[in-house]
Amino acid sequence: MAAGAAHLLIVEDDEFVRQLVAAYLEKDGYRLSVAGSAKVMHEVLDHTPVDLIILDLGLPDEDGLTLIRQLRTRSHIPIIVLTARIARDDKITALEIGADDYVTKPVDPQELTLRVANLLRRSGPARSDDTAAHDILNFGAWSLDISANALRASDGLDVELTRAEFDILTALARAPNRVLSRDFLLDAISRDGDAPSDRVIDVMISRLRKKLRDNSRQPILIQTVMGRGYRLSV
Ligand code: CA
Repeated sequence: MAAGAAHLLIVEDDEFVRQLVAAYLEKDGYRLSVAGSAKVMHEVLDHTPVDLIILDLGLPDEDGLTLIRQLRTRSHIPIIVLTARIARDDKITALEIGADDYVTKPVDPQELTLRVANLLRRSGPARSDDTAAHDILNFGAWSLDISANALRASDGLDVELTRAEFDILTALARAPNRVLSRDFLLDAISRDGDAPSDRVIDVMISRLRKKLRDNSRQPILIQTVMGRGYRLSV
């Protein structure tokens, strides 16, 4: 997807931040919608196809974490969280419930535009430079369809994955039975060496185990290799 084609929705009640962020993203050629509240956000989403949401966690009418949960019940749309909250827990919680990335306030517009571009690249439709038209990785009772961005169970049911979950599972499934370090997996989700790195990967892995119906205490599919990383056991 060309950067200019993407439509972004900025959900932020602070007008200064909203305009600052909008100005930078507009300069990069994105199409933009803005919302100052959760209510307006829902109205925009009802009428506009949006490629990515930039979501402030502290909105006047709804808690941002609740919003992420609501959004995830209806779509995989990529979400970058903006948060002034110092608490690491909020960022981790946001990722746990389905946000794809976050930027801490005060917002560095350059960092944000970089993260937007990264996330859009990862979540774009199957790239034309992908050689295999149908790249399917099978493991256990699962198949991961890379070109369709879909995880399918043997009973035919599709399991919804967020972008980051999909990227991590793809990395693991491409290297079955090999241990991948947290750093390696972090690269797979292009988080640019952001601080709470290890923890982010651990959170994604536990989300994946849940979705793969793996036993979190004694996981069979995605195994923890102490001090080294994770391995998809096939
Ligand atoms: Ca706010």
